[in-house]
Amino acid sequence: MTEQQQTAGVLPVDDEGYVIDSEDCEERETAYRERGESRPITVVGNPVLHRECKDVTEFDDELAKLVDDMFASQRTAEGVGLAANQIGVDKKVFVYDCPDDQGVRHVGVVCNPKLVELPAASRVLDDSNEGCLSVPTAYISVPRPDYAEVTGQDEKGNPIKVRGTGYFARCLQHETDHLYGFLYIDKLSKRDRKDALRQMEEGTPRYPVVPNE
Ligand SMILES: [Zn+2]
Repeated sequence: MTEQQQTAGVLPVDDEGYVIDSEDCEERETAYRERGESRPITVVGNPVLHRECKDVTEFDDELAKLVDDMFASQRTAEGVGLAANQIGVDKKVFVYDCPDDQGVRHVGVVCNPKLVELPAASRVLDDSNEGCLSVPTAYISVPRPDYAEVTGQDEKGNPIKVRGTGYFARCLQHETDHLYGFLYIDKLSKRDRKDALRQMEEGTPRYPVVPNE
């Protein structure tokens, strides 16, 4: 019998196997973003946002560079989460820097995320306002479960589980949706969607965006 080699993940895990992503947030986020270069954000209508991204299969330097650029771009745009297709890259990876319902900051990276289906009976919906860097200046109330879990891999390819509450739960769902080609406005009624697009028309983004053709 061979002893299975335990690969150390990028982040430590708790007793239940979830990543501990609330420690050393400032140092970790700074290190990523200082290595990275900020890129402009794609907006609704750009095809890369409206189709499923490709799975990450190579956990190499190119991916590390992408993650660094995503943290840099997220900071420039003052976002709490960013999916790769929001900087025009067709890969299933998102980064986050987001507070939970207790105000605790979480910083991390998820590749190939899958939302864990939770029993409907345990779901508590929260109808806070939601916005998206790819729908600049628009905010609309969207009901979502106030707790979420995703499984996926870290940027080295180790399997991970991430869980979150409150705004962070919203973020995990929102970013996973992005990588499957969905924006939050796709969940809205026709009227609310129109309202969001009108808000976007009327506003001016505070960060660089990629113009649509
Ligand atoms: Zn978004």
